[in-house]
Amino acid sequence: MKDKGMLGSIFSYAKPCKGKLTLSVICALISVAGGIIPFVAAYRIIIMFFDNSVTAEDIFFWGGICIAGFIVKVLFHAISTTLSHISAYTILELMRKRVAEKLLKAPLGVTQNINAGKVKNIVVDQIENIEIPLAHVIPEGSAALVLPLAVFVYLCMIDFRLALASLITIPLAMIPYGMMLGGYNKTYQKYMESNEHMNNVVVEYVEGIEVVKAFNQSTSSYEKYRKAVESFKETTLNWYKSTWKFTTLGAVILPTTLLGVLPIGTLMYLSGATTLPKITMAMLLSMGLVSSLGRFILFFNQLKSIQYSINTVNKTFDIGELPLASKEKTISQHDIYMEHVSFSYTGKEDVIHDVSIKIPEKSFYALVGPSGGGKSTLARLVARFWDTTEGNISIGGVNIKDIPLTQLADEVSFVTQDNFLFNSSIMENIRLGNPKATDAEVLEAARKAQCDEFINKLEHGYQSTAGEAGDKLSGGERQRIAIARAILKNAPIIILDEATSFTDPENEAKIQEAIAELTKGKTLLVIAHRLSTIKNADKILLVENGKIIQSGTHEELLKNSNLYKDMWQAHIGAKKWSVNVSEEVLA
Ligand code: ADP
Repeated sequence: MKDKGMLGSIFSYAKPCKGKLTLSVICALISVAGGIIPFVAAYRIIIMFFDNSVTAEDIFFWGGICIAGFIVKVLFHAISTTLSHISAYTILELMRKRVAEKLLKAPLGVTQNINAGKVKNIVVDQIENIEIPLAHVIPEGSAALVLPLAVFVYLCMIDFRLALASLITIPLAMIPYGMMLGGYNKTYQKYMESNEHMNNVVVEYVEGIEVVKAFNQSTSSYEKYRKAVESFKETTLNWYKSTWKFTTLGAVILPTTLLGVLPIGTLMYLSGATTLPKITMAMLLSMGLVSSLGRFILFFNQLKSIQYSINTVNKTFDIGELPLASKEKTISQHDIYMEHVSFSYTGKEDVIHDVSIKIPEKSFYALVGPSGGGKSTLARLVARFWDTTEGNISIGGVNIKDIPLTQLADEVSFVTQDNFLFNSSIMENIRLGNPKATDAEVLEAARKAQCDEFINKLEHGYQSTAGEAGDKLSGGERQRIAIARAILKNAPIIILDEATSFTDPENEAKIQEAIAELTKGKTLLVIAHRLSTIKNADKILLVENGKIIQSGTHEELLKNSNLYKDMWQAHIGAKKWSVNVSEEVLA
């Protein structure tokens, strides 16, 4: 996505609160006008003083006008900032919602690869960062721009020659400011990148502290941390060093409006071309003129940081969306057909090459083969984690691209090894499988998935939160909860990424029982890591280098495939070894 200009990036999110933002700017301008009134009143009083015609009544009257002007200034400033804060939070909400929508629409495969720390940084921190500038920059920035203009117009009305005299130093001050802004975009980009790098390294260091300590890597990891912090310091310092002369020079020249007003005003007064009250007023107003111009330069920086954050959000979530079908399809049977499927993660090299598979309804197929061969990729393509690069996948004769994602999710349960539990009760965690399920149905699914026993042992049973249960749940128990969820969902197609890590026999037996319950009468595709669990598959597909190199039943493959035979021997050997070890441990 192309970077948008400064205002373009802000207004791309500002649509729903256009009215409020406009009103906020109008109120800010009224507040500015209110702020000028005391000057007008003071001018009147000064004139009367010089005329010697001032009365107590006049002073009360113009004093009252001063106060009224001040009240208008404060009141409208309050309304303006309230409206701009409401708008800022609406924009923040909108940005966060868009990110969530984007993640929902993106291919599952892509969202899985997004770094959670980065998403958190953007959704929470980066977006939050723009709240303060956004809430203040729009009303106050426009006021800071309009105020000097209004003051100048008013000065012109008093005496346009004095007004012009007050501007003499402004072009001079703009020279160093202009020089400071040369290469600003690049330097700012570098500064933000360095800042981001430091944030990422700090998060990585903290998150990985366990590994760092366990492997005694504190020196090298700390080195990376130290370098990131140092590089940020260098970048900031270099930026500061390259600009401080200009900013200081600008800041010194800008407020020196008196250098123009005073000599020119005196000359004019001496030649009778102006009056003392006018010179006094010109001196007062010209000082007010520069302070708000100075503020505007500050706002420029804040506008840049808003633009940077919005463009970072847009770029990070500029991830492909799957073309989505919206009309539900009638799927009357549940066979899976992969037709000449090729797939590439990178768009360059294919990891799946022209694979065709037909899995009949209610049959049990297994994918086996060496690690990295493409088993998971093939299985994930069926659940449409990504779209195939070439070829088609259909369920019951309907191309999965034509099935709305929500319907496809109802048709296919993908049970993986990453069993995420939300921090709600175990009951609700299981109910995620079917939010309409009654408590009794949840309990039934838990019983079938062999969860009942260990859940009842938790202090609050099914009402224990996943956080409370936390460490008490083993990997196997978490997987059984995930299976209970899938049982409740009752999808006609189950894709199972078999767990690799639970070798204790009791857990394994229970998981097998749970899986047997889950897969009764379903079309089942298993990514197998332990061959004993798929011995009874209707067909085993041997996957190597992104191709199906052989297929058949367990017996057929033992006879015909050396690779399968070797894998089976290795598996049996490992199993014996694990039994021996368990026996030794128990002895
Ligand atoms: P298996 O499940 O048989 O171990 P995979 O399907 O996980 O194999 O991997 C097949 C190939 O695709 C491997 O070369 C792997 O490195 C690559 N691969 C897997 N996942 C990704 C990914 N998210 N991005 C890029 N390449 C990937």
